Amino acid sequence: GISIQGLWKAFPSAESKDEVLVAVEDVSLEVRENEFVCVLGPSGCGKSTLLRVAAGLEQASLGSVTTESRPSVVFQEHGVFPWLTVAENVAYPLKLRGVPRAERRERVRELLQLVGLTEFASYYPAQISGGMRQRTSVARALADDGNVLLMDEPFGALDEQTRVALQQELLRIWERTSKSVLFITHSVDEALTLADRVVVMSHRPGRIIAEIEIPFGRPRDIIELRRDPRYGEITYQLW
Ligand code: ATP
Ligand code: MG
Repeated sequence: GISIQGLWKAFPSAESKDEVLVAVEDVSLEVRENEFVCVLGPSGCGKSTLLRVAAGLEQASLGSVTTESRPSVVFQEHGVFPWLTVAENVAYPLKLRGVPRAERRERVRELLQLVGLTEFASYYPAQISGGMRQRTSVARALADDGNVLLMDEPFGALDEQTRVALQQELLRIWERTSKSVLFITHSVDEALTLADRVVVMSHRPGRIIAEIEIPFGRPRDIIELRRDPRYGEITYQLW
């Protein structure tokens, strides 16, 4: 799981050297094992900052973050290694873990197929589109076997069809592997599709203003519900 306790993150203000910009204010958040939590909030409210601190890439100004294992992270942008090909990027966590070459090759093949990048395996990140780089980053995170997954709007730049396919694939993987997932989005629709629980953040201050348990049980059920003609109605009742 993931445990965030009383987390604050302040940056020096660009406007005045006597002030600070408080991006994350007193955020406490738990993601239990096998739980899928979405953080929902408007642009600039501090979501990426929260994720970077949770990932251990930036230090908290105050508070603490504990994760059960080293997190796998999908960043909002600039997440892939530019000096490695698409396939090498995906193979990277497998290599770190010492997975034998043949098994690695097979696993990379599966993952690339999953995200629709089979034909681009030997391309470098600079040679593919932003959406494809994002898919590479998702495949690489899924190759990692840690049970803590942090994702920052991973599907934001994708077309609707790819987005829905990857959302469903992510849920399938998550159901199989009992990962703790902290998934950032600014899409209500995406949060409702994926989460067991939605944590809503406000902008300035970047605080948690609501936590909503999704009452339908497993997210899979929500995907089914979307095919139900009453879906629109149900969405409104939820909120
Ligand atoms: P978006 O939905 O657009 O991605 P966000 O919720 O992820 O937005 P953050 O990127 O976390 O928002 O930014 C929150 C606030 O912190 C913003 O006001 C931003 O300018 C500020 N901020 C983020 N990183 C830094 C930094 N390294 N230095 C100074 N200010 C920063
Ligand atoms: Mg962000």
